[in-house]
Amino acid sequence: MTYLRLIATTRGAVTISRAYLSGNHMETASHVSGSMLRGALAALWEKDRLGNSDFLDLFCQGKITFHGLFPIPSGDEGENFIATGRFPYRMPLSAFACKYHPPATEDPGHSYIDAIQSSDKECLECHAPLKQCKSPEYYYHGNDNPESRPRPLEPKKEVYLYHGSERATRRARTAALYSYSSICNEEQFIGWLSGAPADLGKFLELFNKSLHVRHDKDDEYNFGLRVGIGKKRRGFLETRMKQYPDPDRGPKEADFRPAPVVNGRVLVVVLQTPAIVYDNLFRAVTDLDAQAVFGDMLQSYPLEDKRPFKRFSARLVIDGWSNIHRLPRKPDQAIAAGSVFAYRLRNEVNKGQKKDLADRLKAVQAVSIGERCNEGYGQILINPRFIGIGE
Ligand SMILES: [Zn+2]
Repeated sequence: MTYLRLIATTRGAVTISRAYLSGNHMETASHVSGSMLRGALAALWEKDRLGNSDFLDLFCQGKITFHGLFPIPSGDEGENFIATGRFPYRMPLSAFACKYHPPATEDPGHSYIDAIQSSDKECLECHAPLKQCKSPEYYYHGNDNPESRPRPLEPKKEVYLYHGSERATRRARTAALYSYSSICNEEQFIGWLSGAPADLGKFLELFNKSLHVRHDKDDEYNFGLRVGIGKKRRGFLETRMKQYPDPDRGPKEADFRPAPVVNGRVLVVVLQTPAIVYDNLFRAVTDLDAQAVFGDMLQSYPLEDKRPFKRFSARLVIDGWSNIHRLPRKPDQAIAAGSVFAYRLRNEVNKGQKKDLADRLKAVQAVSIGERCNEGYGQILINPRFIGIGE
């Protein structure tokens, strides 16, 4: 498996999605989904090659996986993040924090509690009630100490007000007053594409023929990606794309997914992106059983129960727009990103087995679950570092 790593920087303000519309406010997403990234890259493709068999192979038949773009800290810390190949984690829905001092990008707030492992009902610092942390959507660990407590991560956003007015009367038109948020200038994202070396090679060769792609350095490609709403008049993502793994420098394959922490009997599966999973009667599944995640990979490590003993999950409808067909795409029912399913091994793992189990779990999390995996859906992490998990 080879990877193309993308580093994207916002130029101007970018509103990624109108997926969450509440009242008259449109909230931008904090990440670019795999299918959105796929669409933006397809828009750079040479026009006369759109829809031919190479295009369908690479974009639609799953030969290349578009993992999406995820936020990283701004400024110097972001550069550090890129140099050391670190990774933003999706905040699990089992994360709770103090109701009155919730975590925010500028202020870590009062401590997180992971409800999978902990049954605390109040803040450890001020005894206030706890509240589920749905925002910020991502977290990371400080560079100096990978074991440090999770730090909230969210790109800087700004809110715009819009009101359309009648030209004659200058009065606001009915239902034409709304607000929307945008990602600020200079915020950074990290993401990647993956595929077999031959397929990625072909992708690069054809991609390089596009007029929109600059290829000044040997291994680096530069282009602008337009995502979200108001594509023509608003900002874009200035993107650098590089091939990995590079034997001598740069992150290795492992850096694209942090290794699972193996400690104790609990296996916690956290969805990094929404998962579209159907059972054998094509009904959308809301509860992941162990078979759907682990398949036959665990072998000599039997689970206590195929069903999770704890879960924090949410549902989501995924819809979209096809620019080629000029029609909405078929909506899909999905389990939301951040959903957590916890399983328990029947037996304690001894020291000699730890490495073997960790390798197996790593292989499991390298493969996405469910449908439309090449669009980035169904990416999972097993026992990512977080308060409580694997400790
Ligand atoms: Zn508190």
